[in-house]
Amino acid sequence: MNIMPTGNYYCMKPLARFLLLPILLLAINTQAAVVLLYHHVSNSTPKSTSISPAAFEAQMDYLAEHDFAVVPLLELTEKLRKGEPLPDKTVAISFDDSYVSVYESAYPRLKKRGWPFTFFVNTDSVGTGKVFVSWEQLREMAKQGVTIANHTSQHNHLPRRKKDESLVQWRVRIAAEINQAQAKIEQEIGTAPMIMAYPFGEYDVDVQQLAKKLGYVAFGQQSGALYEQADLQSVPRFPFGGSFSELDDFIMKVNTKPMPIKTVSFYSDKNTKQKNLTVKAGDKPWLVLTLDDTSLLKKINCFATGQGAITTEVIDNTLWAQAKQPLKPGRTRYNCTAYAGEKGRFFWYTQQWLVTDKNGEWTYAD
Ligand SMILES: [Zn+2]
Repeated sequence: MNIMPTGNYYCMKPLARFLLLPILLLAINTQAAVVLLYHHVSNSTPKSTSISPAAFEAQMDYLAEHDFAVVPLLELTEKLRKGEPLPDKTVAISFDDSYVSVYESAYPRLKKRGWPFTFFVNTDSVGTGKVFVSWEQLREMAKQGVTIANHTSQHNHLPRRKKDESLVQWRVRIAAEINQAQAKIEQEIGTAPMIMAYPFGEYDVDVQQLAKKLGYVAFGQQSGALYEQADLQSVPRFPFGGSFSELDDFIMKVNTKPMPIKTVSFYSDKNTKQKNLTVKAGDKPWLVLTLDDTSLLKKINCFATGQGAITTEVIDNTLWAQAKQPLKPGRTRYNCTAYAGEKGRFFWYTQQWLVTDKNGEWTYAD
């Protein structure tokens, strides 16, 4: 579907024009809300997970100067749960990992602007050593409207099973890590919303099913705008920090729109569907997206972590995307984007893969 009415539209007979108008308006009004993710806001913490206070301030200035609404993450979460339309030019801000720089650097800046944010805390780390916040500091922020939410108790890689651990045993262990964090936040803060962020942004189908069963809306660290049909247990967020601190990159991302995808599936080769998101080193999995808008399909470009552009093929209303190089152990993302018909705005969908070594062992650290 074209975003803007074309010359053909005005050449149509009035009745046809009348019938088509709502469809065009729907397309023009494609709404997009975006969730931002930060870790440290500091010049003295590890570069890869930090944004400088100056760069953070510049990003917040951009939002203020361009009339973005900054809303609580819970407000967007409720809309997602109810399947209500999302507002455009809307941003929710989140932080992961309980770092004290959020209290020292981000909180005063956001408080001054009167902007809400959500702090996902791994509860076992709170109050331990100089780098982490204390419960006292979290209570102070919560009183000012900051949402304190679940990032599990221990910050483990959730999809990883221990040696000889059955699926049932794994479920019990991971559910405990989620429930313990929730109970601790409730006890210390007085309230704990039913949202969580996966440590390292890592999830697979089993993790999603468990989070769903426990009643959580769950956030990853894969890029993309929110969309109404989004899976509630793999909600995207745009991570910033490290090499992703430049204002130009930020501007492009806060203006993205959700790729209007109908279905997502995974294939290990063209004839073999695979259920989960875990692959082995050397694999080159296919990401398969179906879209109603077949004209958009041909405009989509996909990229893989560390590989640049990857193979894309369009078959009927389906896009097949595959890495050109075999995947290496670690997190790999396929990012698929297309021009959204409005200056500076792109449709965006990211799929994350978790890659073990050749033997199926988890060998990457963080
Ligand atoms: Zn984390």
